[in-house]
Amino acid sequence: MNVNRLDHIGIAVENLETSSILYRDVLGIEHGGVEDVPDQKVRVAFFPVGDSEIELLEPTTGDSPIAQFIAKRGAGIHHMAIRVDNLPAALDRAREAGIRLIDEQPRAGAGGARIAFVHPKSTGGVLLELCERG
Ligand code: ZN
Repeated sequence: MNVNRLDHIGIAVENLETSSILYRDVLGIEHGGVEDVPDQKVRVAFFPVGDSEIELLEPTTGDSPIAQFIAKRGAGIHHMAIRVDNLPAALDRAREAGIRLIDEQPRAGAGGARIAFVHPKSTGGVLLELCERG
């Protein structure tokens, strides 16, 4: 199994537009467009930073996991994502090692990626996304 890089850091924000000002207008980073991810009930924008990206996540519904995160803990870092070559194989190995998974199977993420979340109980308290890009 190959781990390629830190793919992105996901930040939960209340308002995508306001939160984009720093990255877009101040730092001059162009994002690749705002995308709706119905599966996760969020709108996201990715700002490339070197080989990695910053993902801003705005909830689109009150029952979105991101809305619940913000209600509980406030806006802030929500997850980090590591890119892997073969997501199903990574999930199999994690399962075999007794790692607690949130997603047993890959699901659809932003930008056509396949993603799966690993439970913070197994990562030292960080919500970890494994992501595979085609
Ligand atoms: Zn993410």
